[in-house]
Amino acid sequence: MTAYDTNNIFAKILRGEIPCFKVYENDHVLAFLDIMPRAPGHTLVIPKAPARNLLDITEADFVHVARATRLIARVAMPLFKADGIMIVQFSEPASGQEVYHLHMHVIPRFAGVALLPPATVKADMAALKEQATLLAAALKDG
Ligand code: AMP
Repeated sequence: MTAYDTNNIFAKILRGEIPCFKVYENDHVLAFLDIMPRAPGHTLVIPKAPARNLLDITEADFVHVARATRLIARVAMPLFKADGIMIVQFSEPASGQEVYHLHMHVIPRFAGVALLPPATVKADMAALKEQATLLAAALKDG
């Protein structure tokens, strides 16, 4: 297994070196909007602990990620008026992983609407900011 790279972009977000549209944070996880969303509300949930992907994360660290993923899915569904929620996690290049810090994709799905292709269109920053504010507020309340 390839070693964890401390210079990956999500490690830089965790260190505050790169900004993100934060929606949720606790002692163990950070969640923020994907800047090239495959659907409105597309959120990434990451552990604060260094982990390349599902193959090296500890069970204890993954429990925190799973818990936050469930919470965000349940709050995002009504907020974005979605018809369903898709959870995706890629481990290693052959699966489609491009950023080597474990992340869960939480993707609201809408009946009859296809996903945008991965990492293609950079979303409008004002729209992302508004979505992040709404989601963060809903998560605080929920
Ligand atoms: P993957 O590693 O294939 O699961 O996908 C990485 C995801 O990270 C893609 O959906 C990208 O759009 C997203 N992404 C890359 N850079 C950033 C960033 N700086 N902030 C938020 N999302 C990002």
